[in-house]
Amino acid sequence: MSTADCSVMARQTLLIDDDTEFRASLAGALTALGHAVTEVGTAKEADLAFMQQKLDLVVVDGLLPDATGIDWIARRRRVGDDTRIAFVSAYWRDPGSHERLREELGVSLIVHKPVKVTVLATELDALFGTALQLSERALDVLSSLRTQYGTKLPGRLANAEKLLLDARERGTREALDAAISISHRLRGTAGSYGFTGVSSAFGRIEESLRNVSSAGEWPLPDGPTVALWNDVDQALAEARQGVVTVPRRLDMGALAGSPPGRVLVVDDDPDFLRLVGTIASRSAIDVIPATTIDEALAIAKVLPIDGAIVDVDLAGQPSFILVRQLRFLPRREQLPVAFVSADSSLPTRVAAAHAGAIRFLSKPVELDSVIDLAGELVSLSRRNRSRVLVVDDDEDFVDHVVGLLGAASIDAKGVGDADAALDAMDTFRPDLVLADIFLPSISGLDLCSTIRLTPRWDEVPIVLATGRGDRETLVSAFAAGCDDYLTKPVLPEELLTRVRVRLDRAHLMRRASEIDPTTGLLVRRAFARQLNAAIQEARRHGRPITLALIDLDRFKQVNDEHGHIAGDRVLEGIGALMRRSFRVYDIMGRWGGEELIVVLPGESTKVGAGVVERLLAEVRELPFEGERGTFQVSFTAGIASYPDDGDTLETLVSVADERLYSGKKSGRNRVIHADSPSDGS
Ligand code: GH3
Ligand code: MG
Ligand code: MG
Repeated sequence: MSTADCSVMARQTLLIDDDTEFRASLAGALTALGHAVTEVGTAKEADLAFMQQKLDLVVVDGLLPDATGIDWIARRRRVGDDTRIAFVSAYWRDPGSHERLREELGVSLIVHKPVKVTVLATELDALFGTALQLSERALDVLSSLRTQYGTKLPGRLANAEKLLLDARERGTREALDAAISISHRLRGTAGSYGFTGVSSAFGRIEESLRNVSSAGEWPLPDGPTVALWNDVDQALAEARQGVVTVPRRLDMGALAGSPPGRVLVVDDDPDFLRLVGTIASRSAIDVIPATTIDEALAIAKVLPIDGAIVDVDLAGQPSFILVRQLRFLPRREQLPVAFVSADSSLPTRVAAAHAGAIRFLSKPVELDSVIDLAGELVSLSRRNRSRVLVVDDDEDFVDHVVGLLGAASIDAKGVGDADAALDAMDTFRPDLVLADIFLPSISGLDLCSTIRLTPRWDEVPIVLATGRGDRETLVSAFAAGCDDYLTKPVLPEELLTRVRVRLDRAHLMRRASEIDPTTGLLVRRAFARQLNAAIQEARRHGRPITLALIDLDRFKQVNDEHGHIAGDRVLEGIGALMRRSFRVYDIMGRWGGEELIVVLPGESTKVGAGVVERLLAEVRELPFEGERGTFQVSFTAGIASYPDDGDTLETLVSVADERLYSGKKSGRNRVIHADSPSDGS
């Protein structure tokens, strides 16, 4: 997502790279995201650029003609410069400099070439947003996860010491492998939790053990390995010290966190507000009371809310106007709402459904049913949250990542091996998979290939986590079809940025293939898929469904008189109105040219036809601007219901189409259903 539109000034970004081709394409991609980019090719020019302007972000290549990237960064840090820096390198990373870049030099992102420039640009841009996503609550969760891990760490360390001793005494391949494996884990996980001393000590142990392991003489010869075990002892001593060091706290600009759930209740009845005020003490949901339409709108503009419960009659004003206004606020299109009223007559219920209410409660209401309702609103608002599947055999690492993502409002589920991951692909339906490369039995690479080869999952982005980011591993990771990789230990900021960027891209791609750009409604194919699912669901639960096929009246004439562009604006305007007029679980699509279609699960013909009639009344009032001034439009709709009119998509649509046709014949501008007098069928 571009942040250019919400920032007052362009981000000043400096690219330092002597590869002019790479530099130019990255500069292009960043400019498109609203950055003001300066390009230089040497460390010296970079120093000059620093004297000339204030910079927000610097992207540094690993090897410059007159300095290494690391040396240059170290120099900047020595003079007290704390500009955000991303490090991009084509060279194999040695664990030492990796550690140094992150821990000592405070680099925000480390990326290895080859890299897709557009993705890198988005990630760089997203670095600015991630700090805000790590709310106060996220920081709390992180620090408590850390404390928990800290209490387990001495046990983990003792276990590692035992395995190391075993490897030393027996000198067999198995014993050595076990020691390597535990060192590898401690390096990644302890580092991710912020125990950097432990992580770097085990990083050194792992590297030394791997060196003797690849020399491959079994059992290990005594003499030549003395130096090895001395190193290991020394590293272990450092690791023990690292356990007691308090990990550094994240400093990322805290923002007021959101509670588990927050519902706006709008009512001018003080007794009702008093009643719902007690909900907070009995559930995890905060209730924000408002007594007037203006007050409610003012709150919804500034406070993130999951839903609204609104009294139908607010001081004589019909409150469905309020709900419409709420849903026209930015990012509130899909806000779940419910109504309460002392009047439960059919017209009132229809008005409520038309305003997009998922439920209608008649007063007097029980506190329990309000609590249930608030819970339903919150879960509806969160059902669109992204899901991430975390696959790692190290439980500590899974806890860390799941906790971190959860605190950033992403639903995460952890599993320990590839088999469990494949099961979860269907049951949890993740939007992204984050898997370790080294897993027991089936490796992360094989898991990745399997997901890629399965058509229904082939678009799910996969991020692989590696403890050793050597070139060969990375090449095979991309060959297996992974989209991105992370190196352990992971930085919270980097993890969230990468995951967010991937989720956003996947979301955009899905939207692009399912949503018609003019109306913002589903394209026919996506609509049909959802309608079929809704029919099955209705069959299971024995509930009705009502479908309306809507065709604009004399639309050819509208185009002829006012121009095709004005015609497009009509489709846009009606689509926007529909998206805010129906409930969040109603299904809306563009069936064809100027034919729209909507399905109301759970509603019979009576309510469904009533809702569409109200939509028609509103559409007739919408003013449009054309080549010959302001004009208005109308539509004709045919209604069909499951089970009365049919039990498949085809029969329902064809019955609705017949009624639509008869409505056109009998004068247009009307809604025809089974009981309409003009319906000839
Ligand atoms: P009726 O009341 O019988 O439905 O008359 P009509 O003119 O709406 O019906 P007809 O099917 O003859 O014409 C449909 C018109 O809708 C023709 C076509 O140019 C126009 N149309 C279809 N899709 C679009 C679109 O995306 N944009 C615009 N501006 N017009 C469209
Ligand atoms: Mg038509
Ligand atoms: Mg038409």
